[in-house]
Amino acid sequence: MKIHEYQGRQLLSDAGIPVPSGVTITKAQDAASAYASIVKEAGLGDGGLAVVKAQVHAGGRGKAGFVKLVHSAAEATEAAEFMLSNKMVSVQTGPEGLAVDTLLIAAGVEIEKEYYLAITTDRATRQNVLIASAEGGVEIEQVAHDNPDAILKQPIHAHMGLQPSQARRLAFELGFVGKQVGQAAKIMMALAKLYSDKDCALAEINPLIVTPKSEGHPDGQVLAIDAKFNFDSNALYRQKAVAALSDPSTEDPNETKASAYGMSYIQLDGTIGCLVNGAGLAMSTMDTIKHFGGEPANFLDVGGSATEEAVTEGFRIILSDKKVNGVLVNIFGGIMQCDVIANAVVAAAKQVGFDVPLVVRLEGTNVEEGRAILKKAQADIPTMVAATDLADGAKLVCAATA
Ligand code: GDP
Ligand code: MG
Repeated sequence: MKIHEYQGRQLLSDAGIPVPSGVTITKAQDAASAYASIVKEAGLGDGGLAVVKAQVHAGGRGKAGFVKLVHSAAEATEAAEFMLSNKMVSVQTGPEGLAVDTLLIAAGVEIEKEYYLAITTDRATRQNVLIASAEGGVEIEQVAHDNPDAILKQPIHAHMGLQPSQARRLAFELGFVGKQVGQAAKIMMALAKLYSDKDCALAEINPLIVTPKSEGHPDGQVLAIDAKFNFDSNALYRQKAVAALSDPSTEDPNETKASAYGMSYIQLDGTIGCLVNGAGLAMSTMDTIKHFGGEPANFLDVGGSATEEAVTEGFRIILSDKKVNGVLVNIFGGIMQCDVIANAVVAAAKQVGFDVPLVVRLEGTNVEEGRAILKKAQADIPTMVAATDLADGAKLVCAATA
């Protein structure tokens, strides 16, 4: 589960990591007063630096023009009007972009240097890992690609956590000097604790910055000015405060519909809809489709106990995707019974209508009953073809949609 930057900044701040203050708005006409209150709080007058930032679950906002530095209420309003009335298209959104309904207006800071700091779980080493770079900012993906040596990693011990000595060593390696070393190490320690306390899957500060030297801060200040969090959904049952941060408007409505029936729906980019039971069967179904040259548009895992009504809804979800030009049903009946699926196919044909090729492969519990139901309904579902096994089904659906 992802949260917005403004919520992430609050988590960082609660963990003792310094973050410039900010307020959120949803209407452009509130931008002027938000700007005024932010610069006043920062001890600046009109003309003070603030930053207007789109709150969406995707990065790359800076390059897309959805992070704007402003120096007046009028500039803040102009930036807000632009962001709230245009979809943001960045490398992370896909060409259709994302609508923006909330903006963060935060105190702006002068930047001496940008760093990258993140924690995630490394599946290869089965450990949490602190990732850092002295080349942070909007080009970090490029840095990782072109110059992987500029990305430093420190494993985090499962029981002992990040050690202060590791954090300090990393701070030195990143090139922090003087008082910055202690500030950066403290931020790393706090982020590591936050990561494990909140069951995160990703905690990323990009950029972590150093401000220019000033009278009060002769070595500059180390601050977080962006925050990206992803949480392990399996742990949300014990992270009630985190779960409450979820923004339903960012969830895929089809995934929400499916989960209301106890099923899992995953949207993909291809053209073949897949209705399956079990995540493992979903993976092998998609692999087999790809093997025969097709591209899955989605998969809907009906699980073991879905009712005929739920499975009918499943077909409705799959067929609502206009990219779908064929459907493969691949059911290995264990707890799920093939006749339930067959009845759902018939019900869906009546209620939704299959105007695209439908290939059905059934095996397992009550398979004979299931096949009989489909055979009887064949005349009403002219686009339906029965497959003898998974490879046959994948071949048929790929041929029908090619
Ligand atoms: P992202 O592009 O979605 O990751 O958004 P960020 O919050 O990281 O902002 C993108 C870039 O905008 C940063 O890397 C900074 O270079 C710049 N930026 C953001 N906030 C400030 C600020 O307060 N002051 C200055 N000078 N630059 C900022
Ligand atoms: Mg960023």
